[in-house]
Amino acid sequence: MGNIIRSCTQTVLLFVSQYLSPGDTVIDATCGNGHDTVALAKMGAGTIYAFDIQNTAIEQTRAALERAQLYSENIHLIADGHENMRQHVKEKVSVILFNLGYLPSSSKEITTKKETTVKAVSEALKLLKKDGLLCITLYSGHPGGEEEKQAVLRFARMLDPKIWHVAFIRMLNQPNQPPEILLITLKRGVQFEEDK
Ligand code: SAM
Repeated sequence: MGNIIRSCTQTVLLFVSQYLSPGDTVIDATCGNGHDTVALAKMGAGTIYAFDIQNTAIEQTRAALERAQLYSENIHLIADGHENMRQHVKEKVSVILFNLGYLPSSSKEITTKKETTVKAVSEALKLLKKDGLLCITLYSGHPGGEEEKQAVLRFARMLDPKIWHVAFIRMLNQPNQPPEILLITLKRGVQFEEDK
């Protein structure tokens, strides 16, 4: 694992490793170049739902999984917005990852947007198992990124503390606007309204 506060990616993967057991169902809400999907598969996820609105991202993710010899029929690559995830995922999941912003080395115009992101996070929470983890990597350095981050944080601050644990991690001494991490877990023993 190395130095886990060296980079956001390392920190996120450490948290994920604590919440993912072999065979679990998980969601990559923004699969992009496939790095996170591959990491989830390597950690032993049983079923993966990976979303992206760009067909190139879906194909890059498929290629990355094939290169790692991890592509299987249990990995569902879905060319649709994550805000529609509940149309595709009908089971509870233990980990959900969002890596916001734009696809590196692609058009910076095609980026996650505050309205759809907040809707997607709200939908994602309805799919989370008790003690499951929803993890969002936020970027504020690109146009619209700061507004998106503030909208997500506003939503997260409003979550009922009797039901959710919410934490925010910021790399304090990094230059420019480094990524930040929002972690949300559903408390053990709490019954989510829709499941009653
Ligand atoms: N996690 C990726 C990886 O490991 O390579 C990087 C993700 S990249 C920072 C953000 C991705 O979100 C882009 O590929 C973009 O196309 C995608 N995206 C933007 N809006 C989306 C939406 N509404 N639903 C799903 N994906 C979206």
